[in-house]
This record gives sequence, C-alpha cells and structure tokens, in this order.
Amino acid sequence: MISEKMKYFVQNNSALRVMFEEGARLRAKYGADKVYDFSLGNPNVPAPEEVKQAIIDVVNEEDPVVLHGYMNNAGFEDVRQTIAESLNRRFGTAFQFRNLIMTVGAASGLNVILKTILNPGEEVIVFAPYFLEYGSYINNFDGKLVEVPPDTATFQPNLEEFEKRITANTKAVIVNTPHNPTGVVYSEETIKRLAAILEAKQKEFGSVIYLISDEPYRELVYDGVKVPFLTKYYANTVVAYSYSKSLSLPGERIGYLVIPDEADGSEEMITAAGIANRITGSVNAPSLQQKVIARCVDARSDIAYYDRNRTTLYEGLKKCGLECIKPQGAFYLFVKSPVPDEKRFCEAAQKHNILIVPGSSFACPGYVRLSYCVAYETIVNALPVFGELMKEFR
Ligand code: PLP
Repeated sequence: MISEKMKYFVQNNSALRVMFEEGARLRAKYGADKVYDFSLGNPNVPAPEEVKQAIIDVVNEEDPVVLHGYMNNAGFEDVRQTIAESLNRRFGTAFQFRNLIMTVGAASGLNVILKTILNPGEEVIVFAPYFLEYGSYINNFDGKLVEVPPDTATFQPNLEEFEKRITANTKAVIVNTPHNPTGVVYSEETIKRLAAILEAKQKEFGSVIYLISDEPYRELVYDGVKVPFLTKYYANTVVAYSYSKSLSLPGERIGYLVIPDEADGSEEMITAAGIANRITGSVNAPSLQQKVIARCVDARSDIAYYDRNRTTLYEGLKKCGLECIKPQGAFYLFVKSPVPDEKRFCEAAQKHNILIVPGSSFACPGYVRLSYCVAYETIVNALPVFGELMKEFR
C-alpha cells in the first residue's frame, strides 16, 4: 500500500509525463515525421565534442579506484575548485571549492537545499508560471508553497504581489532565469528591486530569507542578453545549477549548488547540504560526470541551432495569428491560447499530431508551452499544420 503523500502525486502525475507517452503512441501510429512534439525540454542538440572526448580521456587516464570510488558527499575537491574558478572568472565572484556542492542535477540540488533549510510549515514563494516540480520538492520537506500571480504583460516577476506575500514564516524564494516556460530573462532592474524587497522584509521580520536561483538555462541566451549573477545582488542567495540543458546532459544527472560565504549561516549550511546530499539518497553526484565537467568547464552546446529554431517558430506562429513574447533565453515559447481554456487548444492541436503543454501545468492557465529543442525540420513542417489548426479558432 503506497503512502497518502504518494497517492496525491500518483493522482496528479504530471501532464508532461502523459504527453511523453502520447508522443510515443502517435509516433508509433503515424511515423516520427508526422508528429510535431513540442512537449519536452529534452535537448536535441548533442553534447559538445569536448564532452565525448573528456569521457574517453577520464576513463583512460584517471585512477579507476579514485574515479569510481566513494568520496566526500559534496564531491571531488579538484572538480569543485575548477568550477569555482570558472565562476570567479566569469562573474567576478570569489568562491572556493568549499562553496560548491556537486549534485545530481538541479532537481537534486533544489531538494538538497530545501532539506537543508526548511522546517515543516515554512513558506517558499514561487512566481507563476513556474516549473511545477517545485511544489513536489517543497512538499518533500513539508514546506508550504506560496504562489505569486503572473505579470502576463512581461512575464517578469510580479513584485507588487510578491511583497504582499512575504511573511515572518517565509524561508525562501525560488527564481528561475532564463525562465521555463516563458524564456524570459529577469532584468538587472528586476533583480535589484527583488533584492531590495527581500532586504527590507528581512529587517522588518528579523528573519533570514534565502533566494534560491534555479538556473539550468544560464548559458542558453540569445542576442547577447546578460543574465545577472544573483549572489552579487543579494547575500542570502543559493545557486542551483545543472549541466542538463547547457551541455545537453540531462540523463547524466550532474549539477551543483553554490552556497556563498556571505549567506547567513553559510558554514553550517555547507556542512548540512553535504549531509542532505547523502541522506536524500544521492550520496554524491556521479563521479565520472564530475571529472568530465572539470575537463570541459567552459564548453558550450550549439546555441545557434536553438536560436534559429526560436526565430523560425516565433515568426511562424505570429503569422498564424498566435501571440507570444519573444524569448531571450532557454528553449521555450509561452504562447497565449486563442481560447481561455488552453486545454481545449492543446486537445485540438493533438488531433493534428501537435503536442504542446497547457499553461496550467505551470500554474498559468490561458497559455501553452512549446519546447523548441527539436529538429529544425519539425518546426518547418509543423508551421503549416499550425495554420490549419488556427482556422478552427477564427
Ligand atoms: N528547474 C527547471 C526550471 C527546469 O526546467 C528543470 C528541468 O526541466 C529542472 C529544474 C531540473 O533540471 P535537472 O535535469 O538538472 O534536474
């Protein structure tokens, strides 16, 4: 008999998962080239050549006993130092290996930091639309998710509504920039205002509020847009990074947390996060992947491929009469549904073998998400089908 908590998750099994299965069913029935699957954020650009070479070199060159052995729960010191130095070069920070904890992707990093800081009943604020798994992660540690409604004009965080929701019981705020599902990058102006609100509220309540920056899309930006590095704007920031998207390695499960020295109680937090890594069951991040990352810390996947997809899909959908903000980062378009009930739009699209995700899966009904980390041809072939679909909504 499964637990009551799990019953809830089984009943609410993500729409994305259902979509994944539907995609497989349609491909088997109609053939892969007749299905336009925009449902998943699974990078289609292969990992850079350096990664492949690094995997081979690590296996050939490293001491197998060390390479495949247990280690400090926070990860190999040399790997953490290499990443710290890369961050310092890029963002003018002063991290040491001790500030980094290698994790099993961002999902695990978020779970580790939430386990580290949350007492039951404490609140974590998130901005709609958001990656719905945040709710599951917060629930894992009996925290309470508090949602800020979206600013649908810009999809920058709605700071007026945010300020009203901060209480003496607020323990953390999760932000994600570049953003899934809108592709928006939070501007420096937004970050400064957000930081000022948090500082003022910490003073008002005499509390510590952590800003958790979930940033698996950090390097996926277009048109030279800069993504502010949040530890520089607010001392109580913790970064959860992942190589799933930036290096196209989602199955390898590798990422890290940064807990800066400036964060309140950082020393204790760093120790606790290492222990949380162990007792949430990861023990440590995959050792082979850690060593691979150290060898290609500044490698990048082919952003130009996503950029061409972004522009082609954005322009094409606009011509079909759909409305959307042009994304500055990540690989998603968040499109206004032509009818208020976006699930009806998704169902109609599915009849044309187009798979898109309802905005309610991101706590933002009335919109749909399209992932454009797909083959360029899928976009080109899908656009006339979108034209057909839209005839039903005129
Ligand atoms: N956070 C956001 C916003 C995501 O979109 C995802 C994955 O899609 C994750 C976290 C989890 O990433 P990872 O594969 O590194 O666990």
